[in-house]
Amino acid sequence: MPEEWSASLAARGERSFTAKQVFHWIHRRGVLDPAAMTNLPARLREHLVAEGLGEVLTPERVHRSEDGTRKLLLRLRDGATIETVLLPSVSGPGSQAQLDADAAAGDDTDDEDDDAGSDAGAAPRVRVTQCISTQVGCAMGCGFCASGVAGLKRHLGPEEIAGQVLLGRALLEEGEELRNVVYMGMGEPLHNYEATARSLRLLTHPEGINLSTRRVTVSTSGLVPEIARLGADFGGQIALAISLHAADDATRSALMPINRKYPLDELLAALRAYPLPRRRRITIEYTLVAGQNDDPAEARRLAKLLRGIPVKINLIPMNPIEASSLGPPGLERVAAFQEVLTQAGYSCFVRRRRGDDVSAACGQLVLLGAKPKVRRAVG
Ligand code: SAH
Ligand code: SF4
Repeated sequence: MPEEWSASLAARGERSFTAKQVFHWIHRRGVLDPAAMTNLPARLREHLVAEGLGEVLTPERVHRSEDGTRKLLLRLRDGATIETVLLPSVSGPGSQAQLDADAAAGDDTDDEDDDAGSDAGAAPRVRVTQCISTQVGCAMGCGFCASGVAGLKRHLGPEEIAGQVLLGRALLEEGEELRNVVYMGMGEPLHNYEATARSLRLLTHPEGINLSTRRVTVSTSGLVPEIARLGADFGGQIALAISLHAADDATRSALMPINRKYPLDELLAALRAYPLPRRRRITIEYTLVAGQNDDPAEARRLAKLLRGIPVKINLIPMNPIEASSLGPPGLERVAAFQEVLTQAGYSCFVRRRRGDDVSAACGQLVLLGAKPKVRRAVG
């Protein structure tokens, strides 16, 4: 944060505006190498090098899919690798593609009020959603997830989390705009709470990347105390996505071990208590796994369970992973599940796979496209 740079640089007798300059170099221009911070005095640049400031992530590979999805493989200083994905969508006002991206990113179409007017007559822009990782692997052990099967190798630091967005932004193409960031890559963000919270502050800092809090979505498997903490620390402004994947405890515990620690009644109470701003909704993610949680009776239970909570539901047919024999249900079964929820009055989307032709080692990363069934553009 610039305030912290200010304190540490003031202690060295630097003038106060140098703190802002350093922060701007990093967060506005994406430059982490002090040697390239040309408007800083040489002795300060040397000090920053000595303090260890420098690149924390090195792009190793970029896979570009035919649909424009780009998956970046990034190497950390200790040699571990993580992934981040850029998902572009052409955005005529109210276009289908925009709705897709909004649904993926947890945007409510009904609070798209900030630029509706100013878009009139403008050339279509390409809005990009970036999906970022918070850990190398994950400790939560969900059986359908590549990160869960791999287990936790280590937490990422805040600079490694926010740094993914600096690199993603540097890869934006002509006409593209970074619009949303979703914490849906590798790892459980709320298991790495401190670093996640700090990265949220960095990404939304007005002197930096300056993302709007409501365009940043944190997805969690349901760490109840940390959901409350996130709500309190950010006043409910950060968009929340919950990986529910079942509507009864037995089914959920079988798919997601975390449910044994925080069962559904506690999780639902945490959602009810989240200080959600008016007209905003919590995204419910529901990965459909054949024979496990895809029965229409489970959809009915889900409809009942969520009653009274402002939600929208994203159904995600499971992306098969090598380490598991679990897989997605057929299309008809997916449609039947959706129909129950739609009939019950929920806004319910089926996500389609994107970036299929880039290798999908980290299944969830390529599952951000969405196909709205019930909610269409209004004007
Ligand atoms: N740990 C967090 C965020 C990362 S996972 C969480 O679980 O919410 C992001 C989403 O991808 C979660 O909803 C997760 O359940 C889903 N996911 C993981 N592996 C998947 C797979 N193989 N197929 C479909 N969805 C998957
Ligand atoms: Fe971790 Fe989320 Fe994968 Fe579960 S689904 S193992 S919480 S990354």
